[in-house]
Parts: sequence; C-alpha cells; structure tokens
Amino acid sequence: MTNETETSVTVLGLGLMGQALAGALLKAGHRTTVWNRTAAKADQLVAEGARLAPTIDDALAASALTIICLTDYSAMHDLLDTSELDGTTLLNLTSGDSAQAREAARWAEQRGARYLDGAIMAIPPALGTAEAVILHSGPQSDFEAHESTLAALGTVTYLGADHGLASLYDVAGLTMMWSVLNAWLQGAAMLKTAGIDAATYAPFAKQMAAGVAEWLPRQAEQIDSGSFTTEVAALETHVRTMEHLIEESERLGVNAELPRLFKAMADRSIAAGHGGEQYPVLIKEFSKP
Ligand code: NAP
Repeated sequence: MTNETETSVTVLGLGLMGQALAGALLKAGHRTTVWNRTAAKADQLVAEGARLAPTIDDALAASALTIICLTDYSAMHDLLDTSELDGTTLLNLTSGDSAQAREAARWAEQRGARYLDGAIMAIPPALGTAEAVILHSGPQSDFEAHESTLAALGTVTYLGADHGLASLYDVAGLTMMWSVLNAWLQGAAMLKTAGIDAATYAPFAKQMAAGVAEWLPRQAEQIDSGSFTTEVAALETHVRTMEHLIEESERLGVNAELPRLFKAMADRSIAAGHGGEQYPVLIKEFSKP
C-alpha cells in the first residue's frame, strides 16, 4: 500500500514553472497541495485534483516534502521567515547563485528544516518528461528519501552535499548555452553577407558544435592534470586563425567583439609563455578574477 505521507508533496509558488511542477506531480499520481500568493493561479491545478492550502502553514504541514519555486530567494525569505519550518523538508528550485543557496541552507537548518537546493534546466512544457533535467544538491540522504517522488518531474540528478552545487552547475551550463548561441550568430551574420541564409548554414554549424563537444573529455584530463602538452594544435596556431576571423568580420562589416575577446585572452596566455601549449591552457586565464 502507498504511504500517503511519503508521496504527498506541496508546491509553493504557482508561476509558470510552479504550475508545471505541480502539474507533473499530479499527473504522476502524487497527492499535491499547492499555495500561491495569487490564489487564482491554482484554479486549473485544483480542477486536476490538487488541494489549495488556505495558508502557508497549512501548506507546509500537509506534505513530507515542500517544493519552492518563486521569483528569487528574497521572495522565499519574504514568504517563509515567519512560518513554522521545524521538521519540514524544503526543496528550493528557485533560481539563484551558490552563495544564496548555501545561506538558505544555514537559514533552514537554524529553523529545524531539512533543505535541498536545486536548479531546473528546462522550460515549463518539458516538465514531467525526461528532457527536463533537474539538478539537486544538499544532504544525500534527504535527496534519496524523495528521489522516487521527484522522478515525476523529469531527469533528476544529484550533484553532492554542497548546497551551492546545483546553482554552480546551472550557471556553468548557461555559459555553455550562450557561448554556443553567440558563436552560431557570429557565423550566421558572416555567411549572410554572402547570401547564405541561416537555414543553409545550420547543418554545418550543428556538426561543428557537436564535433567540438567531443573534445571535452580529453581537454578535461589536461585541465585536471595541469599538463597541456600540445597534441593537435598549439595555442599560437589558434591565435593566427583568430586573426583571420577578426579580419574577415571587420572586412564584411559584421560585429568583431566576440572574435576580439577570444584573441585578447589567448594573447595574454601567450604573453605568459603558453603559446606552445594546447588550447585548454587558457583555463589559467579563466581561473583569474
Ligand atoms: P513567474 O511566472 O514570474 O512566477 C513567480 C512566482 O513567484 C509566482 O508564483 C509569484 O506569485 C511568486 N512570488 C514572487 N514574489 C513573491 C513574494 N514576495 N511572495 C510570494 N510569492 C512571490 O516565474 P517562473 O517562470 O515560474 O519562475 C520561477 C522560478 O523558476 C524562477 O527562479 C526562474 O528563474 C526559475 N526557472 C524558470 C524557468 C522558466 O522557463 N520559466 C526555467 C528554469 C528556471 P504571484 O503569482 O502571486 O505573483
């Protein structure tokens, strides 16, 4: 028989993402209690079987696990600073940085609550599918106690005991996203000057992005070992090609800020004596304040 307490979940915050979280939990058959500052946002979920808690304290008491999804951490403090948290387990899926996550963990602990932090690497319509990657950090036993329930939300990943890890992975992943998107747009702008539309360029760009992604595990070995012996191309060889990219961009009349940034960092690394080493030696530049 299902233990009702273990499969009951509360969701605080029913914005676009909170509604998607509660919807996925309901769809998976979990007893779901919801609360939102603007109560009307619960109407659809209530029609689907959710229970609308009349107060925050009622919402917190209703379930073994409370998922928080608000605009930011200060909204969470506004909402919960005067609530009874003793004995609750909170999973905060609100976006923030690692310092906010660690501070929130201390705040929750002082209030007698168990605390997990998390980050949602997905858009609301993907919730409840494997495409929705949800990162978690905090005590492993607290994660494991709710892992099977959380599986209703998507692909659930545990990163480690440090509460800040989910936020750190979140921003690291966003760096990857914006870097690839900006590189794609740079190339699309250049090719447009030759009458090549983005749709024609897209398959080649996709192949390049996927090909470069294949290099990451070997680069990781070099970064982790601190040894950057050149195996395929020295940093100074890259820089000569970066010059072509800058000159071509300027000649075509497209923005050259991004190529100049690539070269400025590589030039500093060469000036520090690393021109004969392999590209990941640039980690030394990225590791500086
Ligand atoms: P949203 O639609 O703007 O919803 C914000 C929620 O926060 C609403 O429930 C709002 O309540 C509540 N709220 C804000 N300030 C509050 C306060 N002082 N007291 C009580 N409630 C307060 O935002 P969202 O898209 O759901 O995003 C929520 C979180 O998920 C954010 O941290 C966001 O970065 C993260 N996220 C979103 C996406 C996405 O694609 N949407 C993707 C990944 C992560 P009211 O309804 O009463 O205004």
